[in-house]
Amino acid sequence: MRVAIPKETAPNETRVAATPETVKKLTALGFAVVVEAGAGVASRIPDGEFVAAGATIGKAADIARADVVLKVRRPSSAELKAYKKGAVVIAMLDPYGNDAAVKALADAGVTAFTMEFMPRITRAQVMDVLSSQANLAGYQAVIDAAGEYDRALPMMMTAAGTVPAAKVFIMGVGVAGLQAIATARRLGAVVTATDVRPAVKEQVASLGAKFLAVEDEEFKAAETAGGYAKEMSKEYQAKQAALVADHIAKQDIVITTALIPGRPAPRLVTRAMYARMRPGSVLIDLAVERGGNVEGAVAGKITEVDGVKIVGHLNVAGRIAATASQLYAKNLLAFVETLVDKDAKVIKIDFDDELVKATVLTHGGKVVHPNFASAAT
Ligand code: NAD
Repeated sequence: MRVAIPKETAPNETRVAATPETVKKLTALGFAVVVEAGAGVASRIPDGEFVAAGATIGKAADIARADVVLKVRRPSSAELKAYKKGAVVIAMLDPYGNDAAVKALADAGVTAFTMEFMPRITRAQVMDVLSSQANLAGYQAVIDAAGEYDRALPMMMTAAGTVPAAKVFIMGVGVAGLQAIATARRLGAVVTATDVRPAVKEQVASLGAKFLAVEDEEFKAAETAGGYAKEMSKEYQAKQAALVADHIAKQDIVITTALIPGRPAPRLVTRAMYARMRPGSVLIDLAVERGGNVEGAVAGKITEVDGVKIVGHLNVAGRIAATASQLYAKNLLAFVETLVDKDAKVIKIDFDDELVKATVLTHGGKVVHPNFASAAT
């Protein structure tokens, strides 16, 4: 069995799909591991460390012989052309809204698994790339905010005077939001948070932050069976906006992380709201890649409106690449382990396994995932 780890080609992608630690484990599983030269450099892993762990360093051509290709992002059509027919490709394939790309995977004859679809069940927690990366994005958002903010975050009582603690407001308390609360608290900020899911209220309190929400009947029913947010009614959104508008005016830093699966991100912060913030305040929009929670946020840019900085960094987990790769590679390794017959040391995919069923997009030249029937034609 051969596994290849190509160098990522997408712009801004700093992560890599294996680390020396996972290379050792892949080798122990019976894989010959080829890492493309320079694949780990942006994550601070020199080629020599992969070699010391048992990998060989190869060129793009060596990837053509791999039975399994581990990636961070979806391979481009040029990359796909080089892959062996029947190869297993595991990555964050970002399939929604990308039917043509899903079809290209099928046409290339690869068995493609998308890690974002891993079910959030106990057995698959170790493979949950959404959580491992969102957790780091939540942390990094606070670090980025602290870097852009021209004042201190903790209260400081000094001989030269007292500096008040910064006020940080977190909108959307999923995995990223919870880590943002914890990080801002560790830095000494006074933290408040809001979400449309009632279950979050206790979690916010347990992290020492204050919860703010319109707690009406719609709010009490606002969680899907899967634990995700529902899209709220226009009426609810208006009530929510009125409540948060006065609150935002008094904040120094606002971090937004609100997402609804399969829908554009809800617009939570308008220009009129941040026009009331004092100059030097910072807004970080972690949802910018999905349409943005903040009016005027520009993907990949920091803009300044009336002295308020609006940060729209792309691939925020990738800004902390070494750690993000460490966790992502572990997520992938755990999934690969389920696809290998450990005694015979061969790849053996059980298409009845719920993890396989949930994540496999293409197989045998066809689009096989039910959510992408439209891509199959
Ligand atoms: P997400 O990235 O889909 O969304 C981020 C947050 O935005 C969510 O908390 C959501 O409720 C919130 N949101 C949506 N619309 C909003 C609005 N209008 N105003 C304010 N907030 C809004 O969320 P996620 O991080 O993937 O977490 C979703 C759920 O999955 C949570 O219940 C989480 O605890 C759960 N989860 C479970 C597991 C597991 O069981 N293995 C792992 C991770 C997450």
